[in-house]
Amino acid sequence: MKKSSQIEGVAHITIGVSDLKKSMHFYQDTLGLDKFGEWPAYSIFDIAGVSFGLELKGKLEICLLVEDVDKVYQNLKEKGAKFVMEPKEASWGGRAATLLDPDGNKVTIESFHCKVCGKVCKSYREFLEDHLKKHK
Ligand SMILES: [Zn+2]
Repeated sequence: MKKSSQIEGVAHITIGVSDLKKSMHFYQDTLGLDKFGEWPAYSIFDIAGVSFGLELKGKLEICLLVEDVDKVYQNLKEKGAKFVMEPKEASWGGRAATLLDPDGNKVTIESFHCKVCGKVCKSYREFLEDHLKKHK
């Protein structure tokens, strides 16, 4: 991975669904994906190491893993990127900021930095299973 791009990988990809239960059944039972998280309006699967989320009434969102959201945010802003969400602590525990591509598609930059033990995780699954759930 080239360090110059500041993007370390795909944090997760989320798609919008109209019926979460029906879609979960499809991705879990028909496609056979491994579900590792489930909330009332969101569920997340693992596709060979890439996290794939289903959001009730959501929209397609590409989430890119970065080490320092605020630093990358500043850098992208200087390049003229249009942000619709400033860097903030997300309800799910990570830090994230969202910008739009030329067609209005959402691109989110995010990091999985554990506030309890200080570790920076490389995937949401690791963050969820080894930190968010364990520290509780
Ligand atoms: Zn931790």
